[in-house]
Amino acid sequence: MISYDLRIPTQHIRIRRRGWQRRMAGENVLRKGQKIYEPDAVRFERLYIPEPNTGCWLWIGAMSFGGRGAFRLSRPRRQVLAHRFSYEEFIGPIPEGLTVDHQCNNPCCVNPDHLKAMTQLENGRRYTQSITHCPKGHAYIPENTRIQMCEGYKTRVCRECGRLADAAYYRRKKAKKNGF
Ligand SMILES: [Zn+2]
Ligand SMILES: [Zn+2]
Repeated sequence: MISYDLRIPTQHIRIRRRGWQRRMAGENVLRKGQKIYEPDAVRFERLYIPEPNTGCWLWIGAMSFGGRGAFRLSRPRRQVLAHRFSYEEFIGPIPEGLTVDHQCNNPCCVNPDHLKAMTQLENGRRYTQSITHCPKGHAYIPENTRIQMCEGYKTRVCRECGRLADAAYYRRKKAKKNGF
């Protein structure tokens, strides 16, 4: 008669190891309710669309002030501007006190090739240069521009608008004198 030792598991019995056993064996087993977070750089890749004509990477995630993209970092949890994240990710750390400017003048672009770190003053100058006409549509050409100091800054004033305002003033004055 053959005797079987029942304490020794035979080959065909599959032992189902529990989570803690697998974790003890060094496997990466998720706990209940535990989620895997993608690295920020991977999540960033899904949040823009490359635009073929201009080469801009258009941000399709959340928006911040001025039409610029907002990007939420997972660790530490905070919100940063998407183009600043892009600069730090692909080019390098932003030097202290500098702003990241869009060379393509598209605030929602996050293409690192279109980004340049510069001082606030250079950025403001670039912005001023991008405005070529006064609010009423007269060109800011040298003959039509008067430089005026305003709160310590040089500002451009349209001469044509001044002429029109003067003409309107004298017209009103004349009308008043004539009794209208
Ligand atoms: Zn761009
Ligand atoms: Zn004008």
